[in-house]
Amino acid sequence: MPEPKAPQTIAAANGIATDPAYRAVTPPIYLSSTFAFEGFEKGGRYDYSRSANPTRDLLADTIAKLEGGVGAVITASGMAAVDLILAGLEAEDWVIAPHDCYGGTYRLLAARAAKRQFNLAVVDFADQQALAAAFAREPALIWVETPSNPLMRIVDIRAVSARARSIDAKVAVDNTFLSPALQQPLALGADFVVHSTTKYLNGHSDMVGGAVIAADKDDLQILIDWSNIAGLGGAPFDSYLTLRGIRSLFPRIERQQKTAGAIASFLQDHRFVQRVHYPGLRSHPNHDLARDQQRGFGAMLSFELAGGRREIARFVESVQVFTLAESLGGVESLVAHPATMTHVSMGAEARQAAGISDSLLRLSIGLEAEDDLLLDLDRALMAVAH
Ligand SMILES: *Cc1c(COP(=O)(O)O)cnc(C)c1O
Repeated sequence: MPEPKAPQTIAAANGIATDPAYRAVTPPIYLSSTFAFEGFEKGGRYDYSRSANPTRDLLADTIAKLEGGVGAVITASGMAAVDLILAGLEAEDWVIAPHDCYGGTYRLLAARAAKRQFNLAVVDFADQQALAAAFAREPALIWVETPSNPLMRIVDIRAVSARARSIDAKVAVDNTFLSPALQQPLALGADFVVHSTTKYLNGHSDMVGGAVIAADKDDLQILIDWSNIAGLGGAPFDSYLTLRGIRSLFPRIERQQKTAGAIASFLQDHRFVQRVHYPGLRSHPNHDLARDQQRGFGAMLSFELAGGRREIARFVESVQVFTLAESLGGVESLVAHPATMTHVSMGAEARQAAGISDSLLRLSIGLEAEDDLLLDLDRALMAVAH
């Protein structure tokens, strides 16, 4: 039988009905930490689950196919996935990272740079002069996060990758906000894709995990080796849950982004909202670029509430369908206040430089009925006014 090509088919059916033991339709979960040798000097494909595990491998194979890579490494968290890519750097290497990347990524890059494990240049990717100056350092690695968190800014992956190739730099793209259902960075020229599988890939907010997908076989082998050396691999049970989540990735995200579009329009017209950041809006500065390199605008958005601390507190305590919590990409809708939650570790100065104001709220749109979500937001906005 030919390999299935459509990504929807890969998501729903990769590895289905391949169990050699009992013909189980759903691939079984292998929790075993160790695997018996057939005899003296006769090890099998698996020997110890830190090095490799069948359940984790099936997840890696599925995500690699969805991203169009040669393979993937599944890690215990999204942060472990980010750190895995950094493991290959030398002390004299330069890393370029966006000034508005995920707070945890920013903290990790800054902490490792402070330990002199590499040099770090944090730049605004929209500032062409600053970007040119950073490229002039001939960096070894360029970190891209698009759409960015929480301001939903878009970086041109094709342009950055072409420029990186001319100086032999590697490009890693954090694709957590869109998932391979809506964006495939490797096809646009990137070398690595990183995921917090905690978010859309698992999609049910019941595990923490990560993945790195590579475009090149040699790069992949380095990642596999480091993951084994440092013990970064994800647990079999978490891998099983993530694979279970991926089965419904496409219908979930398609429905979630449809609702997100409606919510973005609603907020844009609301008198208690100052600004909405959603790439699907024509008013978004990178709307055309998003339409060109993405297959959809996603289900994440942020907006600035008219008012300050008091109004923010009233809003987040008034919502009833949305839940005030960190994280994103699950079936349930969440609201977060980046300045005091997801981006608190960045510090006020770096937040201000990145344009993350104290009145900014971030929404992750779930699978609830659109009308219930709109009503909830409308009620909370009205509560702010009183
Ligand atoms: C959540 C997140 C991470 C970190 O992943 P964890 O699974 O929480 O370790 C990295 N990048 C982005 C964009 C994220 O949203």
